[in-house]
This record gives sequence, C-alpha cells and structure tokens, in this order.
Amino acid sequence: MEIFSSRDAVHKYLLELRAAGKTIGFVPTMGALHAGHLSLIETARRQADIVVCSIFVNPTQFNDKSDLENYPRPVEEDIKKLKDAHCDIIFMPEVEEMYGKSESWHIELGDWDNILEGKIRPGHYQGVTQIVKKLFDIVQPDYAFFGQKDYQQFMIISQMVRMLHIPVQLIVCPIIRENDGLAMSSRNVRLSSEERENALALYRGLTKAAELFKTKSIDQIKNEVNAFLDSAPGIEPEYFEIYDAGNFKPITDKSAGSIIALVAARVGKIRIIDNMILKQG
Ligand code: AMP
Repeated sequence: MEIFSSRDAVHKYLLELRAAGKTIGFVPTMGALHAGHLSLIETARRQADIVVCSIFVNPTQFNDKSDLENYPRPVEEDIKKLKDAHCDIIFMPEVEEMYGKSESWHIELGDWDNILEGKIRPGHYQGVTQIVKKLFDIVQPDYAFFGQKDYQQFMIISQMVRMLHIPVQLIVCPIIRENDGLAMSSRNVRLSSEERENALALYRGLTKAAELFKTKSIDQIKNEVNAFLDSAPGIEPEYFEIYDAGNFKPITDKSAGSIIALVAARVGKIRIIDNMILKQG
C-alpha cells in the first residue's frame, strides 16, 4: 500500500497506472474509519483494479467549528485498517496541500443546497462539492463510491458530475449498521453510553416508517414517526421527511418509483443522520 500526502505525486503515480491499463476506484473519506467505510473499499476492490482512499477532514464543509476541532483523527489505526482491507493507495494531504490562502467556490445546486442537511448546515454542500471536485481532479477515478448513509450528499455529487461532465461513474453503497441498528458513523465514538442508547431512536423511527408504509398514507407516517421522535428520550429531532428518492423532492403520495425516509436529530452535542428506502425503484 502506498501513502501519499502530495497531490502531484499521487496524480503522477495514478497516471502511470492508468497508462498501464488499470481502472481506478476511489473512496473519499474523512477518516476515523469503521466498517461502513471498509464496505466501500470492499465494493471498490470488486469493481476496479486499483483502489484509492482519501482521508481528509475538509474544513470548508464544517459550519460548526467545534465539530471540526473534535472530529476524530486516529491516523495510525486508519492506515492499518486500510492495509488490512487491501486498499492500494491512501491519499492523506494536509489542509495547505488542498487549499490556497484565499479560494472561493460556488456551484449552483438549486433547492438541494437549502433543504434538510443543506438548511441545517448552511454552506455544507458547497464545501463538500469543492473538495470532491478537487479530489476527482487529482485522482481522476473511473468509479467513485459513496454511502447511502449520506444520501443527499450522493444526490448532490451526482448533480455536480452531470453539470460539470466529470467522467466518473458514481456508485452508491448500502448503509452498514451496528448489530442493534444504529448506522455506523465516525461521530458515534463521541456518544456516551446513554446517548448511544438514545440515538437508536432514529433507526427505530425509520423501521417504524417502513412498517407503517405498508398501510398508511405519507401524512400519517410522518405524523406518527414525528410523534415517536418527539417523545423519544435524550434526542432533539431536526427533521423526518419522506422524499422521492429519484428526484429528491418531498412527496405527498406513494406514486413515486422509489421512496426514501430521512431523519436527523441532535443527541447531546452530536448530530446523527440516517435514512431508509421505503420503496425500491
Ligand atoms: P465520511 O468519512 O463520513 O465523510 O464518509 C465517507 C464515505 O463513507 C461517505 O460516502 C459516507 O456516505 C460513507 N459512509 C459513512 N458511514 C457509512 C455507513 N454506516 N455505511 C456505509 N457507508 C458509510
């Protein structure tokens, strides 16, 4: 496994591999790796000849300074996990390697920038698209792998790829959960044991939604799940919404081909997001 911190060096190394006919699969991450990240590496390994994983805690996508400062950075453990997962290349640059002193970025993302996560974290998706575009330029992957866990992010990156004609195929991978259902997240390590228990309400709300989906209307599901979340101990719900998973717009009936429920809540100081497909397209 090769480890790079220089963008030029990794770019050149990958150019040679591509010239030798190898396909490149890319998994961008912010590190603090868990089984969810490793499942993306595994999928990438099946799809591409060479797997590149980036680890970069991107400052421009954090609108909460203390979240950025407290974001876990277990570098040595991450390197070991990636080695064990047979990742070929790690790209882990410093912030100065990725950003000049004064840089601006704006991409028109329409409504998707201002709803759900975009509404609660203003500027978040501008930061996400800024770094993903830079990483795509450096790595020039044939395939890039993203988790359904961050479904809105996947939709937004898909939109950027379409708008900017970036020659990459995006692949969305299923959410990996703990045994009790909690979606794996790098931030989970910051939950106390009581918060960890309380955080399960999000998964329970989603499974409730999936159950209700069989018999109830969208409005009824939203009312019941919102009431459940409001009464769940130790969490502050931020949203529970049901969207058309294809055009990523809110729905009022079940006619859309694929339907997704999305939830976010604060558990103590930590924000947790999760989602579940209610109807598969
Ligand atoms: P992050 O390090 O949080 O930026 O996540 C890097 C990638 O891993 C993103 O594409 C996430 O959607 C994905 N990911 C995070 N958590 C999970 C999970 N529990 N299951 C599957 N993929 C995940």
